Amino acid sequence: MTPGRYVINETTGSTGRPLQILTTVESAALSRNVVSERLFQYLDLPDTGTVFNLGLHYLGQPFFEPKALPRPYVQCNLRAYDPDRAEIVADYEAVVGRVPVDYIHGSSSRIILLARYCAERGIRLEPRGIVATYEHMPAGGRKLVEETFGCPVTMLYCTSEIGYAAWECSERRMHFHEDFVQCEIFPASGKVREGGVGDIILTSLLSGPMPIIRYVTGDLAAPATHCPCGLPGTVIDELLGRDGARLVGIEGAAYSPYALLAALTATGLVEFQLVQESPGVVQVVAPNASASEREAITHIDQRLRAHFGSAQGFSVALSASTSFIVSGRGKRNPVVQLMDIEIGNTEKTGYIRPIDVSRAPH
Ligand SMILES: [Zn+2]
Repeated sequence: MTPGRYVINETTGSTGRPLQILTTVESAALSRNVVSERLFQYLDLPDTGTVFNLGLHYLGQPFFEPKALPRPYVQCNLRAYDPDRAEIVADYEAVVGRVPVDYIHGSSSRIILLARYCAERGIRLEPRGIVATYEHMPAGGRKLVEETFGCPVTMLYCTSEIGYAAWECSERRMHFHEDFVQCEIFPASGKVREGGVGDIILTSLLSGPMPIIRYVTGDLAAPATHCPCGLPGTVIDELLGRDGARLVGIEGAAYSPYALLAALTATGLVEFQLVQESPGVVQVVAPNASASEREAITHIDQRLRAHFGSAQGFSVALSASTSFIVSGRGKRNPVVQLMDIEIGNTEKTGYIRPIDVSRAPH
């Protein structure tokens, strides 16, 4: 695109409704490429090489394309692996394991699918860096990716409104790049949460045409902390999830899903999604769950029933569905609500703890 031109970016709408952001070619590309180059340096990636891009693609994006910035790489745009779509299977057969790959970049769920694809076929890729954008990545999935590729995963935090904002250091803490984006953490709605948890609020320093000041991202984090790794910027331990995600109990009360997500992660499930179609029942979509993981889900359900009784809260059940629900833009959210009801703001966390699950009979 020509320098000096304005660009309208539309967000995915995971904050509730899509937003349009007016920016310029320079400001949209500048922070992205500078933050990318810092990441390339940190990961000690080669000056040139091959990258598998498993991110969201634009319509008509070629299978292979040259990328000049931040470093000259050949980029292969792989879609999410789907054994039922012949054209995607053909793409994977053509390149995965056949060309060397230096760097893997993309959304967490698609990188997990690639790791599973390689693990099942005994394909050894030896990337020097794996960068996953901040979509929910269960600990089990991260372990599968890191073991399959023999390379640590680095989480990158970005939003469509701000661009690349922070990435994770070797101590697994997120450092914000404060020469581009100012980060503040406080409860935007005045809602006091346990442990001082607040909203991640960002101000873009490059948003000239349409200033983005104190933008409430909808993501939650514990108060800023200190990291001894030496990288600059405001530091947070981890993202605690999205403020908007809710589960609805049989009595109509809203519950935070994060205790349940943590309990499911503790079972070792590599990938899963919570789907709710009616109050009081939460379905766990986990098509690849092993026998012991299925058993652990049953155990979680028993604990929830014992905790809530029959008049309140929710139960969980393994869904019969073999596919995940993705948004119109191809993003897989950890919690999907399919109910046509107004959900309130009640905070009810702490109904189940991961430690309860680790004691489950396996
Ligand atoms: Zn650090």
